[in-house]
Amino acid sequence: MSAPELYILGSSSATPTRDRNPSSQVLKIGSDKIMIDCGEGTQMRLIQLGIRHTGLDYICISHLHGDHYYGLIGLITSMNLMGRKQNLNIIGPPHLKDILDLQLKEGGKQPEFNITFHATNPEKPELILKTSHFELSSFPLKHQIHCTGFIIKEAAKERSLNIDQIENHQVPIAAFKSIKAGENYINDKGEEISYLLLSHDPKPSKSYVYCSDTIFDMDIIPYIKDCTILYHEATYMEALADKALERYHSTAKQAGIIATHAQVHQLLIGHFSSRYDNLEPLLLEAKSIFPNTALALEGLKFLINENDADAEPTVLELSNAFNNH
Ligand SMILES: [Zn+2]
Repeated sequence: MSAPELYILGSSSATPTRDRNPSSQVLKIGSDKIMIDCGEGTQMRLIQLGIRHTGLDYICISHLHGDHYYGLIGLITSMNLMGRKQNLNIIGPPHLKDILDLQLKEGGKQPEFNITFHATNPEKPELILKTSHFELSSFPLKHQIHCTGFIIKEAAKERSLNIDQIENHQVPIAAFKSIKAGENYINDKGEEISYLLLSHDPKPSKSYVYCSDTIFDMDIIPYIKDCTILYHEATYMEALADKALERYHSTAKQAGIIATHAQVHQLLIGHFSSRYDNLEPLLLEAKSIFPNTALALEGLKFLINENDADAEPTVLELSNAFNNH
């Protein structure tokens, strides 16, 4: 399976700006797509980035501040109008279900697909879903209201064969599958040969952590440690650390401190206050603490990978689908 891909759809906090929409991202992992937060304008970004609804079977909402979910009912409505039939998993605070139920009931049209709702827990980390491609967990964040981060980790990979040893011991093809699964091989003479000799350890699974709105909080370190890419909000610069504290947000410097302690491979910062037109100073501030940092800007695609050759994001064209009309 190729490395998971992360698409940034929205990076603004609270209100949109000329270039930035409220929070939303899509992680593509195998054939699955997982949306994380769905602020207003997310549907337009999906169109602009050419990301189809197909395969978008999981939507995670971190908390119920409007800039993180006001796009959700519109997206569900469009999915229905486009004839969606497959189940949609929505993961979020318990009252999100009540809000959606009311919106759909009063709108007089129930979707023709099933919605499976998974409530997040603001008190402790929880495994929410496990599929053949990934594991999805939530963990508590400290914000003004019930808020969780999300961890998406690739499913464990299988071992790879040590071809030299396979040839040395004349292991038949029929035994390959069980060796890769961690079983010893017994040859015709009844000799047992360890799978550890006949195969290599699997490549470590990549993981992506999304730290939505949160105060600077070292308590999250155990949950997010060693992840491949960490997204952490950086609403303000350190000069406004008092404001960040008062509003339960973080600064770019604090995001860098969290990434350093968590020993992540790469840090992405986002959820920028609309007061900043130029985001370079926020990037430099985070980089002064944690050098491998990038801005999570709309239209960027990041590979969830530890290969430094892949560290630079791909810049996608944000073509406005309605420009020609
Ligand atoms: Zn918030």
